[in-house]
Amino acid sequence: MSNKWIDIGTLLLEYGLINNDDLLEGLKLQKESGLRLGEALVKLGRVSMDDIDWVLSKQLDIPFVIVEDIVPNLELLSKFEKDFLIGNRILPLYETDDQISIVAEDPLNKTAIGFIEDSFSKKVNVSTGSGSKIEELLKNTFKDLVLPDLLSALKNITERIKGTSFYRIDFLLAEHACKISIFGSGILKNMMTIKGAFSKEDICSAFDEMKTPFLYDHASNGERTFLTAYPLKNKFDMPSLPAITGEYGLMLPGDIFFADAHVHGLHKVFHFDNPVHGYNYFLTKRNTLAFEKSVYVIDAAPEDLKKCYVKIFVPSKCPSCSGTGCAACKGLGYEFQKFEGMYSSGELRERLNKG
Ligand SMILES: [Zn+2]
Repeated sequence: MSNKWIDIGTLLLEYGLINNDDLLEGLKLQKESGLRLGEALVKLGRVSMDDIDWVLSKQLDIPFVIVEDIVPNLELLSKFEKDFLIGNRILPLYETDDQISIVAEDPLNKTAIGFIEDSFSKKVNVSTGSGSKIEELLKNTFKDLVLPDLLSALKNITERIKGTSFYRIDFLLAEHACKISIFGSGILKNMMTIKGAFSKEDICSAFDEMKTPFLYDHASNGERTFLTAYPLKNKFDMPSLPAITGEYGLMLPGDIFFADAHVHGLHKVFHFDNPVHGYNYFLTKRNTLAFEKSVYVIDAAPEDLKKCYVKIFVPSKCPSCSGTGCAACKGLGYEFQKFEGMYSSGELRERLNKG
């Protein structure tokens, strides 16, 4: 990297990108700040990083590539570790039987280029281009590469939990992976971990893509984000009574309205503080007759309900695989018995205990 800055002032002058005054100012700032000359000139707004990269490519007789014009080669990119490419700001372009072409911010990055040579056992042709543009393109492209994984995982899970007591999908988002679990009727089950850095927004878009409305809550500690999603069904003929549900996809009752989207514990699932992604029409009933028309999850059925409408699937160990997971239970390890009707909370508990 250090070669890059040798004589950069002279080169920029030669190519007419700066004048003598710019150079003097740059040298002054360089002295004061300890920046390298090129950096100082960029900071002063006299040149751009692209100018410097371009001059450098001239100096080293290395082709300068306009990164914006590149269509990413997904097949080739998928052979690399994302962090390696982004960290070194290297964009692989194409490969032949014995050669591989890359754009590198620093064409003198011997370690990284040597690593590619060794890994592929091919000669590496290096061109150079704007580092920030390379990084931006890589980040967007890798996002496109992993998003389909998230979407197919979600489709798979929502399909498998239909007609079951699992009503909640949990996502643990860490730097390199997303761990997905399902929850319902007191059972927490890990489903899968997919590689990739995902955000809350990615999960929202995946649900949108599936046209599945949902409610969610999330918490983050900076390194990891925990997101709890409640997929919703659109139709529910609910009497004007509280309801309890444990079926996949909490119901969206026609006559219950929500204003905000933060889940405050499970005892009242439908009490929220923020706009709900995918929703555009609710009001709150938070303080008035909250218990008259509420939807509860089976894990938090209130004890003092006189009569409530119940629609749940009660889990018991799958008889075919005794819980280890098989085709009959879609790998979930349980079979689910439908349970529906009007019950008081006491009756409900009695029936559930029998089940
Ligand atoms: Zn089974």
